[in-house]
Amino acid sequence: MTASGGLTSGAGDGAGEAVVAGVAEEFRALYGARPEGVWAAPGRVNLIGEYTDFNDGFVLPLALPHTAVAAVSRRADGLLRLHSRDVPGGIVRLDVDALRPGAVPGWAAYPAGVLWALREAGHPVRGADVHLASTVPTGAGLSSSAALEVVLAAALDELYGLGLGRPDLARLAQRAENAFVGVPCGVMDQMASACAVAGHALFLDTRDLSYRQVPFDLAAHGLALLVADTRVKHALGDGAYAERRAGCEAGARALGVRTLRDVPDVQLPETLGRLSDETVRRYVRHVVTDNERVRRVMALLDAGEPASVGEVLVAGHASLRDDLRVSCPELDLAVAAAVGAGALGARMTGGGFGGSAVVLVAADEAEKVADAVRVAFASAGYREPRVFGAVPSAGARRVG
Ligand code: ADP
Ligand code: MG
Repeated sequence: MTASGGLTSGAGDGAGEAVVAGVAEEFRALYGARPEGVWAAPGRVNLIGEYTDFNDGFVLPLALPHTAVAAVSRRADGLLRLHSRDVPGGIVRLDVDALRPGAVPGWAAYPAGVLWALREAGHPVRGADVHLASTVPTGAGLSSSAALEVVLAAALDELYGLGLGRPDLARLAQRAENAFVGVPCGVMDQMASACAVAGHALFLDTRDLSYRQVPFDLAAHGLALLVADTRVKHALGDGAYAERRAGCEAGARALGVRTLRDVPDVQLPETLGRLSDETVRRYVRHVVTDNERVRRVMALLDAGEPASVGEVLVAGHASLRDDLRVSCPELDLAVAAAVGAGALGARMTGGGFGGSAVVLVAADEAEKVADAVRVAFASAGYREPRVFGAVPSAGARRVG
């Protein structure tokens, strides 16, 4: 798969036949029987709407071609066996009845948390054998964790005939990550992984989880979307998320609204004038204007003008950098280098302090822009970034 001029998607085979067959074959070698089925769920990149999801706001993510692929069979004996091709170490064996939040260390907490969340919700899931592999880069802000959770939720839903809807699966996966693993993430990542449709971005209202598929056919408009993974993760990130969240809640309280979602974009200067705390004022401005940017991007995509999205991305980056202050030198450089080399727009995506930037570019300029980002990083003495093309891809699905 290429974005243009041989720029790879970086997804390897994604959930292609070879990967599916490989995962199924490895399952058989590990557990001595063929899996009952194989499922795939993608990572995601957020086009616009950052730090809005815990404010009941809007987000516009899209699924990546990169996926987690899981081969799964049921077990009736209360045992959960987990194995990942991508993690050294053998099979992790867990007693389903003994699953408790915080009790499972390491990567196995993500899939174990999904089984726990299903059982907590009253679903009769008695055990499973799981083997998985993923092409979603970990820790790059592309939601390898959500891909892992959602692929298992989709598999168990189908194998146990639970009949859950896509948003239900996403909520359960989020609950696994929040309550079982202990990561306070919003629901965007899991919703994108569960609900995305190829060729579309997913407009999501995080207040009620209503969503809409927004056409985003890059190729038809001669465009490409690049993801530039800076491959850095500054330690600052964890505390900063909680601090931004608390600041947004303080802002909502001070303005007498339930959440910042309820602050209208009109008369924003007057609204901000009612806030005495300078930091809170900046956070509120970011959230209110980013919600508006999501609506603007959605309107542009609906109108068939995706190229015009670029300038909104640039404004979104400035807001994250200057108002929310969650960017970092590497992300700022990726955006500046991309735009300087002719990209239509770019912004950091995800929680910030490292991770990835998303770049909108004319397809025939993609290679040049990707090179410019690499050259800028080399000149700055930074680690070589991973730059790849991303096409809006499908959400969770059965693949074997
Ligand atoms: P992100 O979701 O942005 O990639 P997170 O820190 O939220 O980063 O999640 C990454 C974690 O998810 C990894 O540290 C690991 O525990 C788990 N994980 C992701 N992919 C895999 C995989 N292929 N096999 C096992 N664990 C994985
Ligand atoms: Mg994650």
